This record gives sequence, structure tokens and C-alpha cells, in this order.
Amino acid sequence: MMQTILPWQIKQWEVFKASLLNNKIAHAYLLVGLSGLGKLNFATVLSQILLCEKINNQGFACLNCQSCKLFQAKTHPDYQLITPLEEGKIIKISQVRELIESVTKTPQVSKYKVIVLSPADAMNKAAANALLKTLEEPAGNTIIILISNQPHNLPATVQSRCSKIKFNVPAEAIASHWLIEQIEDKKEVKVLLKLAFGSPLKALAIKESVEFEYRRQWFTEWLAWQEGRIAFHEIVAKWQEFPLEMVLNHWLTWLTDLLQLALTGSNNFIINIDFTDSLCKLSERLNPYLLSKYVNYSQEKRNLLLSQVSVNSQLLLEDLLIKWQALLEAKENTHVG
Ligand SMILES: [Zn+2]
Repeated sequence: MMQTILPWQIKQWEVFKASLLNNKIAHAYLLVGLSGLGKLNFATVLSQILLCEKINNQGFACLNCQSCKLFQAKTHPDYQLITPLEEGKIIKISQVRELIESVTKTPQVSKYKVIVLSPADAMNKAAANALLKTLEEPAGNTIIILISNQPHNLPATVQSRCSKIKFNVPAEAIASHWLIEQIEDKKEVKVLLKLAFGSPLKALAIKESVEFEYRRQWFTEWLAWQEGRIAFHEIVAKWQEFPLEMVLNHWLTWLTDLLQLALTGSNNFIINIDFTDSLCKLSERLNPYLLSKYVNYSQEKRNLLLSQVSVNSQLLLEDLLIKWQALLEAKENTHVG
């Protein structure tokens, strides 16, 4: 994990530093903003600073004291990171109860105890309510840092008891400058940031993911099938080698790009900028009205796939492809007619 303030977090850092240097540390912070902006990284840096015995003149942790060494070894007894026990699941009330229990104890090494909860919106209502009492009657030496991509899912009572620090998507120049330093292929920076809606860490995660390796292949196969170069059963078989929602998530970005192109005729806002030429050609073959209906239909199908309902993914994929073919033929027929 990085241990520095990221280039787009300067403003947030200045706010925190001012409260630190003026001895006005809040007992609870809520870090909000889209995923991929480095909120957990920021919280980790803050935690180490709060625990450090001798922060330096710039307000950063010294990296040398006993506390810093324990923190770097991930064995600091006064630091806790609370996350869902299973990824993507809830933070259980039992976890929050343990947290509350630990708040009553005095710090062992540092001046403070620091507890980071991420993502805080993974607490269900009961867990959030249990935490509320601790936020209302803070123990003087405990600082709680909540992290949330979806703060609207947190009770207003919880939000109002925290000092809020908001993170925004950085300007493209700042994001690309940072991303270029992280990855080898500089040509990919622009498209990665588009796919990540501007969130630099998300862009980096996409770069390292299986889907980024295969998206070009899926797109090429899709075009090849439309041009009759590969058969229907072949594309179905090829795409079924992957989790279907992964393919469909990308496929939906192609569709929304096509819709942009069909409606506005401009490629200024498309996501898949590396596929621009093919998408432009394809958009000319599509009826915008029918396409927008099809995009909605596809989104519904993708959501169905993500829901708990058990779905036959092969049938779902075949249905989407057959309807896509019909869509292409519909426009061609209107030309003929
Ligand atoms: Zn230190």
C-alpha cells in the first residue's frame, strides 16, 4: 500500500493538516467520494500520522518511532481496520460491537487509538445504529475514520457526527500524469481513465485485470461475428469462457458509445476511444430509437445477471445476440424500404 498523499488529495490533506497542527482533531472523520480515488490510502496515511510519536515539520509520520515501526509491520495494537469479513458483504453488528468494546480501552503505545471502517456503508442499519452511540459519546483518545463510496447509504445521524472530507475525480492532466508513472504502456492511459470514469486507482486496477487483457479480443470477435467471419455458436462459446457479467459490462460500454455516436454524431464523450473507427462505422448502421431501447433491454438483462436470481447465462447471451442481429437488420431494411 502506498504511504503518501496522492497528487489529487492535496486540498484534503491541507484541511486535515490544519486541524492536526491546531490541535483540533475531530473524533470521527468520514471520507467520501467515488471508488478509485485513494480514500483508504489517505485514511492509512492519516492513521500512521495520528499514531506517530514524533510527526515531522510537514505534518507527516516520522517513520522511525516505535509506533511507526509497529504500523509498518501491520502489528500496531492501537490501530484497527474493519472491513466486511467476506468481500462485498456487510460489516456485521458483531464487528461493530467489538469495535465499541475496544474504544473503552486505553491506547497501548500511542496517544490515540485509530479505527478505520471501510466501506462504512457496508454496515447494515443495526450496525450503524450501534456505532452511533460511540460517535455521540466519543472517547477522548479514539479516532474513527469512516470511508464511503455511497454515503447516501449511511444514516444521516452517522454522517452528521463526522467531520466530512470529500474527494473529487481529479483533472485529467493530474490523473494521467500519475497513471503514466504507474504503468508501462503509456498509450493505454487515456482509455483506462475513460473506463474508470476518471478515477486513477480504478484505472490502475482495470489495467491489472483480466478484463482489460481480453476486452479488445471480445470486441474483435463481436465485429467478426457481425461480419459473418465467425459463427453464432462460436461467439457464444468464446464469451462463455468468461464470467458473462464481465463481458457484458464491457459490451454495455460499447453500446452506450454507439448510442452517443448515433444520437450526437460526435465522438467527444465515448469511453472506448481506441475503438472509435469501428464504433463510428457501426453507429451509421443503427436506428437511434431502436438502439436506445436495446441498450435499456441489455442493461436490464445485465442487472438480472447480477441479481440473486439464478439465470441461464447461455440463453441470456444468445437472446441478446439474436436481438442485436435483428437491430442491425431493422436499419438495413429501412434503407431498402
Ligand atoms: Zn513515527
